[in-house]
Amino acid sequence: MSSSEDYYSLLGVSKNATDEELKKAYRKMAVKYHPDKNPGDKSAEEKFKKISEAYEILHDSQKRAAYDRYGHAAFDPQQGGAGASYSRSQGGFRQGFGGFTDPFEIFRQAFGGGFDDFLGGGRSRRSASHASAGTDLRYDLEITLLEAFKGIEKTIRYNRHVTCSVCHGSGAEKGSSRSSCSTCRGSGFVMTSQGFMTIQQTCPRCHGQGVVIEKPCSHCYGEGRVVEQTTTKVKIPAGVDTGMQLRLAGFGGAGEQGGSSGNLYVIIQVKEDKHFERHGNDLHCRISVPFTLAALGGEMNLDTIDGQAILKIPAGTQAESVLRVRGQGMSILNRADLRGDQLVHIAIEVPKRLTTEQKEKLEAFAHACESKSKGSFFDRLRGSFGL
Ligand SMILES: [Zn+2]
Ligand SMILES: [Zn+2]
Repeated sequence: MSSSEDYYSLLGVSKNATDEELKKAYRKMAVKYHPDKNPGDKSAEEKFKKISEAYEILHDSQKRAAYDRYGHAAFDPQQGGAGASYSRSQGGFRQGFGGFTDPFEIFRQAFGGGFDDFLGGGRSRRSASHASAGTDLRYDLEITLLEAFKGIEKTIRYNRHVTCSVCHGSGAEKGSSRSSCSTCRGSGFVMTSQGFMTIQQTCPRCHGQGVVIEKPCSHCYGEGRVVEQTTTKVKIPAGVDTGMQLRLAGFGGAGEQGGSSGNLYVIIQVKEDKHFERHGNDLHCRISVPFTLAALGGEMNLDTIDGQAILKIPAGTQAESVLRVRGQGMSILNRADLRGDQLVHIAIEVPKRLTTEQKEKLEAFAHACESKSKGSFFDRLRGSFGL
């Protein structure tokens, strides 16, 4: 881009415009031509680049002096101008030392931190190179088995970084702005020589951000964010299980200096239940069945997770056998109409004390068993001797 247009007329200011006037003129035009305000409009983007370039030169007293003396030639290496150190790199806008800066960076510096406010919606992150992304947070939430079965809304409280309400995340005190770091001239790194080697290091002053805050916000100490307790509601769907995580986008910590917020991950832990043991979607329980009922068969009431059901006990049910009751298990995640099964482990209950009547009847039962087994014994004997 060879902009031979006069920098002063581009910004609509006179040759003796003060720094304040330049800044004011640039801000006004930059907001008007910013690509975020003119999506897809190539000519607006070109204009935005040109005015940013003009502003970058004119608001720097050294560059402005060179420009006043030599005009555009001062920045054109082909012409061997006095400003050789300001030579533009081949690719257009890349900083490098003394080269032209990214127009978005110039724009951001001219506005300090609150530049997004000037653009209204559609916040652009492209120029916010100093902003760090927020952290993801983890919250361990313990719920009961019944809550996991039904699904529940829980209110949780946790501490997280939120954007500072005083500086709105810019990190700069009101009236103060960010300026290009003078140590690294905005590049974020510095060169040091050790013997014949030149080493590139992150700038110690701006920590690689290329900008410094003149006067940090006294509320957040320049970080642009503060720690605050947050209360939020989490909807836990029916059927969740231990180890599952719910992602709450944007509920994590805010980034530094207006950086985007991370996510909150709620990790579910389902407490052990006294009556039920969960195996996937099935619930296992253990019940005692009177030995007579196990022998004769019949029905009994069964506690389920959310009520009662009738358990059919087949005649001759053995100890440690497992009866399956369909559809009385856990809710299945994202399948509102489906449930797992309840698996009932049978223990046989033997009475510890008997009344006289019960004893007599049981003895009679035992006798009946004996004679039956004797009979069969003699039958077998008879059979084996061919009698
Ligand atoms: Zn602040
Ligand atoms: Zn620096």
